Amino acid sequence: MATPAILFTNGRIFQSGVEPGTSAGLHREPTFASCMLVRGSQIEHVGSPSDAPIAAALAASSSSDSGGSGGSSTASPTTIVRDLGGRTVLPGFVDGHMHLMLLGQALNKLDLGGCRTLEEIQAAVRAHAAAHPEAPRILARGWMHSMTPGGVRAADLDGLAVDERTGRDRPVLVDSKDLHSTWCNTAAVAELGADAWADVPGGIIERDAEGRPTGVFSEAANMTYVWPFLARVATLEERVAAVEAAVRAYHAAGYTGLIDMAMDEGGWEALQAWQREKAKKGEDGGNPGMRIAAYWLIRPCERVEDALQQVERAVQLAGEFGAATTPDCRVVGIKVICDGIVDACTAGLKEPYAHDGRVGVPLWTREHLEPVVRRADEAGLQVALHAIGDATIAMVVDVLVRHANPNRRPRVEHLELASEEDAARLGTSRITASIQPVHADPAILRAWPRLLGEHRCGRAFAYRDFADRGAPLALGSDAPTAPHAPLGNLYVATTRRSYRDPAAGDAPVNPHFALGLCEAVAAATEGAAYSCFDDHRVGALRKGLKADFVVVDNMEWDKDKITAATVAETWIDGVKVWST
Ligand SMILES: [Zn+2]
Repeated sequence: MATPAILFTNGRIFQSGVEPGTSAGLHREPTFASCMLVRGSQIEHVGSPSDAPIAAALAASSSSDSGGSGGSSTASPTTIVRDLGGRTVLPGFVDGHMHLMLLGQALNKLDLGGCRTLEEIQAAVRAHAAAHPEAPRILARGWMHSMTPGGVRAADLDGLAVDERTGRDRPVLVDSKDLHSTWCNTAAVAELGADAWADVPGGIIERDAEGRPTGVFSEAANMTYVWPFLARVATLEERVAAVEAAVRAYHAAGYTGLIDMAMDEGGWEALQAWQREKAKKGEDGGNPGMRIAAYWLIRPCERVEDALQQVERAVQLAGEFGAATTPDCRVVGIKVICDGIVDACTAGLKEPYAHDGRVGVPLWTREHLEPVVRRADEAGLQVALHAIGDATIAMVVDVLVRHANPNRRPRVEHLELASEEDAARLGTSRITASIQPVHADPAILRAWPRLLGEHRCGRAFAYRDFADRGAPLALGSDAPTAPHAPLGNLYVATTRRSYRDPAAGDAPVNPHFALGLCEAVAAATEGAAYSCFDDHRVGALRKGLKADFVVVDNMEWDKDKITAATVAETWIDGVKVWST
């Protein structure tokens, strides 16, 4: 017998009313349909009970008692009616920028997010190490530089994770919340072999007067040395478990798709293995589980040829794993991290940092970046460039305008301090503004006026400019560097107030740059799908698209009340993959 169709009635089914890739504008209000008919993996119709397809489906189930709010009943062998009880249905969220493997691994790390001081961090690490006597090393996350204003050294973490059986201190590795730095104890520095590490361009290895590493590795040094080490020591089994943990967390949050922004060999191998295991178990009847598009991370190199070699690997994978072959797990392009972040004073700025006069410089020079972008674009790959500071943003927009075909939907990640002129160029060149509103949370920006000077803070997170100038918007979370809940992201995007720490009462950040609620929802669904060429399949609730959607409880259409809403069900391909 064929799978019955499912008719959802009495709902508020979101319709942005705009084409993917165009901005809805600040003031647009969505419309809501009451019914949606899903057959197999697809949406067959969205509309009202009087529409012919809905009426026919209702007639086919005329004997049914729809069973009240949220209930379901088998009306006929061919149609199931689900009364939504007035609840809202949104397209499945697509995270426009996140890190799947790091998120999955982070879910299993000690979270230091609640600590305020070095002493609290030490106590948390000690307790966690004692609770995990078998762990070969202790991994933690969520350290913020503001918790340790005096700076940190390896010795600050020594003696907290002693193995009772051997009496030896175990390695401790602590990620900064932004993932741009790792802080290690002495045992970890030794295990990493960091004494032998040479400096890398764009990287920081903090050293003592004798030149020995003191335990903190940032930016390119973190990416070049620490991440590959952690990827190496993680077994395939652990990595597959990380993928599974991240996917489950994403289902619960309301995501049906995601864009991984730093894919590498270890992550890709784990994804393939995860898919194989899922298929072998066969419990899900071939459900894709998550629609994944990946950008291959290009690491900075001394020689351009070495960077181009990495691009060739991405070209090869994109050829093998593309929209035509594996539409739910693709390599779509390359990612280049062109600068750091403002809080670590590593974002590339036009004027020096205000507090110490240092100049932030991009991690990539134009001379290195241009051939990489040109080659990737020629090969048909999408190009995603991380740029946070105004100098880096100006440079990467120049490079994209010159070397990337706008039809391939090139993109800039983060765009935290963009000039008016560059905001305009995003629009004229159809460069996707890939933005993560959770990074604009006022609770984590308290240092900005001191670091940048008040005058520059006025350009922080200029989302309104990007949208009004015509840049396609894709919303993302950058998880695990920021909370991944899409409703929290929408709240910051539309109110510019704090989602992380609302009680602190921080002033909203440049509220005139806020997005409208309809606009933000569209950017978090069809906008993100558009950014990776998946808008012909997903991102909206429309006839012929995949039945990827979420049922949301307690959602008033009001930006100030959006965080009171909760995701109650997540559906992918017409199958409920998660519910409360
Ligand atoms: Zn990122």
